[in-house]
Amino acid sequence: MIRLLPVFLLLLVQVGCQGTDLREVSLDIELVVLGIAQDGGVPHLGCQKECCIDARRDGIRLGPACLAIVNHRSGKTMLIEATPAIEEQLSLLREITGFGNEGRHAVDSLLLTHAHIGHYTGLIHFGREVASTDAIDVYCTERMSDFLRQNGPWSQLVELKQIVLRTVEFGDLTEVMGGVKVAAIAVKHRDEFSDTVAWRIEGPTKTVLFCPDIDSWDGGVLEKLIEGVDICYLDATFYDGRELPGRDLSEIPHPPMVVTMERLQEAAFREPGRFRFIHLNHTNPALRDATIRDELRNRGFRVAEPGERFRL
Ligand SMILES: [Zn+2]
Ligand SMILES: [Zn+2]
Repeated sequence: MIRLLPVFLLLLVQVGCQGTDLREVSLDIELVVLGIAQDGGVPHLGCQKECCIDARRDGIRLGPACLAIVNHRSGKTMLIEATPAIEEQLSLLREITGFGNEGRHAVDSLLLTHAHIGHYTGLIHFGREVASTDAIDVYCTERMSDFLRQNGPWSQLVELKQIVLRTVEFGDLTEVMGGVKVAAIAVKHRDEFSDTVAWRIEGPTKTVLFCPDIDSWDGGVLEKLIEGVDICYLDATFYDGRELPGRDLSEIPHPPMVVTMERLQEAAFREPGRFRFIHLNHTNPALRDATIRDELRNRGFRVAEPGERFRL
């Protein structure tokens, strides 16, 4: 795990003293990674394999995939996903940036990809029993917002105005925070309760893609998603599909990392660090196997790390 760069903060302060121009504003916004695991996190309920036995022994906890965006000027924070580890993740955000996890605005706004447990159930902490948040803007698709409005306990958050649903149309660019626009892009996934999207996030200087869950990259999907994107966080649930013996992978389809790397290899050599893997299953060897991690790196890919941050 990394704890990052006081140097970056110093830089912000220095630039902040030099009068106002657009460059300066752009430095005020950053993206921070708060979680990198699949929905169940690490250690994983019921796992008595080495992956989770070792994690329990060593006190390692990896929360589900989650990003945050912070505007240092306004102090506004936005989360991308409300995971079951939301308290730990907002604590990490505050530790790194000094913002978030305070009072009834523990976060100012939220983007959701879909209604699977690792991606939205952190909302449970927004209710009366915990933070009783005050009108947090929740950006999601119409089907996701219908799901929240029509099913308890989420419906109570809407009724009590602890959250305010902001429905977006697929593909439309919506300004969610000064200097940050987002678009929800439909992707294929198990859609029992909601549809599923990837988020394209456009800051003043960089564009980011967050695509934690998708069935496959077939049909030119990958090329379309990454077009014009500087930093791509991509579904890395499984490394090569062999790490889940005894489970039918057709029930839980994801593009294996080895396939993603093959498809993106040329671009990754050209732009090392552009493609960053996220949403790793607890069994995924890329979480801990040093040989695999070295190879990934040499090929220009990265596994996202909690605490990593970029100017947006
Ligand atoms: Zn997931
Ligand atoms: Zn495990």
